[in-house]
Amino acid sequence: MKIKDNVDVLVVGAGPAGSIAARVLAENNVDVLVLDKKQEIGTPKRCAEGIHSNVLDTVGLKPDPLWVVNETLGAIIYSPSEKKVEINFNDVGIGGYILERKIFEKHLAIDAITSGARYAIKTMALGVIKENGKITGVKAEHMGEEIKIRSKIVIAADGVDSKIAKSAGLNTTNRLEDYESGFQYEMAGLKNINFKYLHLFFGSEVAPIGYVWIFPKIKNTANVGVGILSSRSTPEKNAKYYLDKFIEDHPDIFEDASPIEINAGGVPVSSSIDTFVMDGLMVVGDAAQIVNPLHGGGIRLAMNSAKIAAEVSVNALKENDFSSSRLYEYERIWEETDGVRVKKLLKVRAFLEKLNDKDFERLADILGAKDIINLSNANYKFLFRLLLTKAPKLLPLAKKFLV
Ligand SMILES: Cc1cc2nc3c(=O)[nH]c(=O)nc-3n(C[C@H](O)[C@H](O)[C@H](O)COP(=O)(O)OP(=O)(O)OC[C@H]3O[C@@H](n4cnc5c(N)ncnc54)[C@H](O)[C@@H]3O)c2cc1C
Repeated sequence: MKIKDNVDVLVVGAGPAGSIAARVLAENNVDVLVLDKKQEIGTPKRCAEGIHSNVLDTVGLKPDPLWVVNETLGAIIYSPSEKKVEINFNDVGIGGYILERKIFEKHLAIDAITSGARYAIKTMALGVIKENGKITGVKAEHMGEEIKIRSKIVIAADGVDSKIAKSAGLNTTNRLEDYESGFQYEMAGLKNINFKYLHLFFGSEVAPIGYVWIFPKIKNTANVGVGILSSRSTPEKNAKYYLDKFIEDHPDIFEDASPIEINAGGVPVSSSIDTFVMDGLMVVGDAAQIVNPLHGGGIRLAMNSAKIAAEVSVNALKENDFSSSRLYEYERIWEETDGVRVKKLLKVRAFLEKLNDKDFERLADILGAKDIINLSNANYKFLFRLLLTKAPKLLPLAKKFLV
């Protein structure tokens, strides 16, 4: 199929961010083309596939049984000694879904195409075209052929390993301390767990500065994975080591289980890249390192940043102004909304990173379900009062990182 060589907006990456941007643009009659290097959208996945129900509301999606494969009622948090704190989602007014992400991503693309967007798969963007300091398109490779596609705006939605932002000259470098290294098996044959709950295990022996998750899918299957801080990973003790050890240590759950898929990937859990825009360029989702720093979930933030960027593009196109100062509106809106929360969550993360296993045990004793939800929503004022009366030893740390 012939790929257009000139469009208004060129989106690189057909993940959740790219396809939401494409749909919003197409709904506004913008001529938009999406490139993805994959030969099949959504595959392979790099995801545990868990989201809150509000993730879909953010971008006007309704849950569809074609891609929501499990509805979760809550989460169980396990301390290092496996003391449990149970969170019932109903009590805190949220719902939980487990996606079949490969199908979810395809449906996002179908929605965008139905709205008028065009897609070119198996098309790898090699770098931006830069003229007089402005980004005016992308060089790409499609099935052995090198092509150039011109556009008024490029939206880089090419994920955590973004080439586009870097090739444009934005600083995307991260330190090892800024990444969680993830490793996951999708497994069948699990037993003795509640399949309506997410299960999250903490502890320095389980996952240094991270956690192990079991996110149940259909029948007796689940995504079983681990994230550890990349700087704690060694050749002998990497994320795979911790996951395999966890599985070995829990024969009650895993003795009859086998993997049906392996996934690995990095999650940027520090602050986002310095700026999201240049003349003719906007960076969204994981490419901008916009991820929830507490749990590493990024689907909602990716889709919302893409929606904002697309809405700003629509107006920039009407005004025929693609300068960084015009496109900066996207970054400003993000900073004033999700950005505020992400900054607070970074503080919560910095506080939690300093805790040892004993501290986690103490927290498991004193934190209730609502407290954990509050913390994960970056509402942590209550913590000072609680620590003052129940764990005063932790108060100086809380004051250092959370004030
Ligand atoms: C192990 C693991 C588990 C996770 N679990 C969860 C979870 O349970 N819930 C949650 O909310 N988040 C989770 N995340 C994070 C989540 O997957 C990301 O935040 C989300 O995918 C970001 O979406 P995106 O569209 O920005 O990027 P991506 O989903 O990474 O999409 C980027 C797209 O760009 C394409 N691409 C890349 N480079 C090029 C190129 N040069 N040319 C053309 N195309 C290109 C890729 O093929 C891909 O399709 C997890 C991440 C990992 C690693």
